[in-house]
Amino acid sequence: MDDPRRIRLIMELRRAGIIDTGVLSALERVPREEFVLSNFGDQAYENTALPIEHGQTISQPYVVAFMTQALALGPRMRVLEIGTGSGYQAAVLSGLCRRVYTVERYRSLLRQAEGRFRKLGIGNIVTRVGDGYLGWPEQSPFERILVTAAAPEAPRALKEQLAVGGVMIVPVGRSGANQDVVRVRRSEEGYSCDRLLPVRFVPLVEGIAEGA
Ligand code: SAH
Repeated sequence: MDDPRRIRLIMELRRAGIIDTGVLSALERVPREEFVLSNFGDQAYENTALPIEHGQTISQPYVVAFMTQALALGPRMRVLEIGTGSGYQAAVLSGLCRRVYTVERYRSLLRQAEGRFRKLGIGNIVTRVGDGYLGWPEQSPFERILVTAAAPEAPRALKEQLAVGGVMIVPVGRSGANQDVVRVRRSEEGYSCDRLLPVRFVPLVEGIAEGA
């Protein structure tokens, strides 16, 4: 890793409060330029969200780092991600846990993300076209769940698929309005929530995208 733009981005994330060295080195290892549209390659290491196909976005590196840090991953954990998009967040997660299960409603986005995982030699991500509101019940419970699109509230099926002792990170709020990254913790007694960071995400949309 000797690209000065990448080093500069990691330093910027550190200054912005990302202190988990595991998270920083996971970001350092994933070449973000492989995940952005080719005409945005020169902006791949700027700390901004960028457009991908179907009006979706690859999240801002700071937000990826913040949500990954908030998950407090362990190397043996199984993680469910909702909203594969470019695959960048899944690739970052894959370096920090045992296996990533990622769900995307656009088949074409998922196929491209799978191609990137193959090219980069990442073997611990499994993918599925589906409606992320429904999660991945056959593989549940998950110790960690990360949602990368905004929902009006933490989806019920996802809360149910969270293991006891587990953590879900989810942007909550209406699209175009104020949204916050929320941490949901599940214990024997039930669920507790706290708001961590104001954000702006594309909406979590119900159903799979037909023909795309
Ligand atoms: N994690 C992505 C960010 C993707 S943006 C990355 O690193 O690039 C959010 C993604 O969520 C979009 O690709 C969008 O199509 C997807 N999405 C929205 N609603 C969904 C749903 N109900 N189920 C699955 N994916 C959904």
